[in-house]
Amino acid sequence: MNEEPDTSVRPFVVGIIGGGQLCRMMYAASIGLGLRVRILAESPDVSAAQVGSDVVVGDYTDHDTVLTFARQCDVITFDHEHVSTEILRAVAAEGIEVRPGPDALIHAQDKGIMRQRFADMGIPCPVNRLVADADELKAFGDEVGWPIIAKATRGGYDGKGVWKLDRPGEADALFAGLHGGADILAEEFVDFTRELSAIVVRSPSNQAVAYPVSESVQKEGICTETVTPAEGLTDDQAITCQELALRIARELDVVGVLAVELMQRADGSVVVNELAMRPHNTGHWTMDGAYTSQFENHLRAVVDLPLGDPGLRDPYAVMTNVLGGTVEDLPSELLHCFARDRRLRVQLYGKQVRSHRKVGHVTVTGQDLAQVRRRARHAASRLMGIDDEAETDGDTDGGRR
Ligand code: ADP
Repeated sequence: MNEEPDTSVRPFVVGIIGGGQLCRMMYAASIGLGLRVRILAESPDVSAAQVGSDVVVGDYTDHDTVLTFARQCDVITFDHEHVSTEILRAVAAEGIEVRPGPDALIHAQDKGIMRQRFADMGIPCPVNRLVADADELKAFGDEVGWPIIAKATRGGYDGKGVWKLDRPGEADALFAGLHGGADILAEEFVDFTRELSAIVVRSPSNQAVAYPVSESVQKEGICTETVTPAEGLTDDQAITCQELALRIARELDVVGVLAVELMQRADGSVVVNELAMRPHNTGHWTMDGAYTSQFENHLRAVVDLPLGDPGLRDPYAVMTNVLGGTVEDLPSELLHCFARDRRLRVQLYGKQVRSHRKVGHVTVTGQDLAQVRRRARHAASRLMGIDDEAETDGDTDGGRR
């Protein structure tokens, strides 16, 4: 008898909404786990769509598109946090798991809601207030002292949607430029000495792991480099950051990666800047520097597998972002990079090179932080078309170890 395959039974499918580099790197992790991944990509040529075997091209802002996509999946997760909670509630109402769920995700989508929740929880944050117009913004500045920071509550990224205002006069210009298009959160200007990132992962079974705390270096609102563990961070300070992140993950019921961006003051104290509930740029070092990457642990959490060891494999890991520069054919520079440094790890995202766009990253691990940093910077510079020979003594331990 010629039996027809039973098409009503299909394998367990993880759906990822958004086809950027985070999805691409999650996809890479899914291969080793043997997971079936379906991607809802913005266009056929985005980073993850180039490599995924099961890609649907569609608009994540469209209710029906997301719902139709989700119905072919058992669990949904994300490459970005821009899918509306309304759509996600409709998905969850059909019995499809959404991880992280909309009630958690809203805190990564809306800075006003996040600040309110943190005030209720007693999480250290900059003094802040939602303001309706320029007068309220000025009044806030006069109260807390100038300069102040103003932020669009939604839709900001890489420093877009964040403004530093030095004097009251700038409040009018800010609101005039908004054309009524955004809600504004005013914050005291935190005179921080550096930015830290505490990344944790939490599973539906309530298991959680915390990665070592990273220092993230930002230039013009874009993360350019991370150093893990953050140099000079005391054990107590590191534990404070990790406990904060674990507590937020638990109380907000986050599933998957939670990245907590922190600002550290000269006295060592920290305040929370913002959250991300997906693999985060400050966790890219984990791909090549930790026992289990943030991408794999995110997927493990999404399918409720035991989480892997977040520990560093070497004393230090430096990740340097490759931002679009003068090199268009990035792989053509690999000959130099790899010939010079056998332990250099490079991840390229398959994205068209455009000025300052994140197109890849490199990771170097080792024992001597200064040397590790130099090696990472040299490789990233090379991939950006910047000659940094002046900064490097060419000494690498990559080939010798
Ligand atoms: P984005 O959504 O673009 O990541 P963030 O809220 O992280 O926006 O802010 C971008 C940058 O602005 C931060 O990395 C930090 O350097 C600076 N910043 C944000 N909030 C404050 C603040 N209250 N005081 C001082 N600097 C701030």
